[in-house]
Amino acid sequence: MEKARVMFPSTPVTNNANVPAARFDVARVRADFPILARRVGKHPLAYLDNAASAQKPDAVVETLARYYRGSHANIHRGVHCLSEEATVAFEKAREQVAAFLNASTPAECVLTRGTTEGINLVAGTWGAANLRPGDEILLTALEHHANIVPWQQVAARTGARIRVVPVAPDGALRLDEYRRLLSARTRMVAVAHASNALGTVNALRETIIPAAHATGALVLVDAAQTAPHLHVDVRALDADFLVFSGHKVFGPTGIGVLYGKLPLLNAMPPYQCGGDMIRAVDFENGTTFRDAPERFEAGTPNIAGTIALGVALDYLRAQWTAGAQAHEEALLRHATARLGAIAGLRILGTAPEKVPVVSFLLEGVHPHDVGTMLDADGIAVRTGHHCAMPLMKALGVGGTIRASFAFYNTLEEVDRLASSLERIQRMF
Ligand code: PLP
Repeated sequence: MEKARVMFPSTPVTNNANVPAARFDVARVRADFPILARRVGKHPLAYLDNAASAQKPDAVVETLARYYRGSHANIHRGVHCLSEEATVAFEKAREQVAAFLNASTPAECVLTRGTTEGINLVAGTWGAANLRPGDEILLTALEHHANIVPWQQVAARTGARIRVVPVAPDGALRLDEYRRLLSARTRMVAVAHASNALGTVNALRETIIPAAHATGALVLVDAAQTAPHLHVDVRALDADFLVFSGHKVFGPTGIGVLYGKLPLLNAMPPYQCGGDMIRAVDFENGTTFRDAPERFEAGTPNIAGTIALGVALDYLRAQWTAGAQAHEEALLRHATARLGAIAGLRILGTAPEKVPVVSFLLEGVHPHDVGTMLDADGIAVRTGHHCAMPLMKALGVGGTIRASFAFYNTLEEVDRLASSLERIQRMF
């Protein structure tokens, strides 16, 4: 079995990004997440389903409670104290998002419900306004359904055509095929920064984005799986659009971010319509719209979730400064070695650069049964197609078992996973 070479290729957050794993104080960090101390049946919880959703530190939970207890009111519309306080906190969170992504201005950061809504927003507005019959949208075989289906829908409405970059057997994108498929017809390349199913990190900065721009195509980056692990720098990447979800970066559910270059956002028609996104509404003269980001934020937003997202992003950056990324590398290296040594276990996705995700199959046991038996040992993993049915088809499997790690996981939890799998394997 080829071993995955584990790398975190994007810009390090600080010069401390290579702090040895031992220096990262996991016990201290785990104390920030009370849920990690709970038991599942007779066993301590080992939460290895972080690619689906990450747990929330106390700072995030407290922010939500403090906001609702002490300063909730609707934003942008009131002259009273509570509305002012909520508005200031909400807009401060947008600034925290902009700092997290290194956006040029907070106006480039549209607050959405999550990755899915961000992609639907771009496909539904930019796509509907710009795509014509014969245009091409380039996707990859690694995409989550959220970065496939909205494009299929807009392609059906506009007559545009979808082309798909295939994957190599190790789960890496076929960049030779990518270059071959790119053409003057390509209007949009919509690509995951990392695969949620395998962990493969795609070469955006080096190859994918510059090559797309050279042919005149725009690039939408689905950063749902990299935002929790890498410093996603929209300006270094030169991404045109980039989306991620709050709940995967230790923030609440129901909040996410669409980054877009400002001229692109301001040229796009609105998404949903209603309060807060208009300049003037008039039955005789029609309605005019505000610029980004408000143009895309109709109605009362997720105020508490946005404020808590800002707190989550600052918390995450503090963990990186403390050496979290090196610790995650160690987790992935250890998991790849321990699981790779189990007879009858096949790791899917051994591309050179990965986020801390290990997808695998255990010979003779259905992934669903493996997941159920791991749960009986207190170990939470995900099984199935991971919302990536085209990828499963390309790999010739129906689904996999996926263990996905966050900085609060421990090497001992990896050992527990490996021991449980060895026991399951002996039973079958
Ligand atoms: N894209 C990727 C790569 C994902 O991993 C996910 C969630 O698993 C999504 C999109 C959808 O994210 P959400 O359900 O938060 O909108």
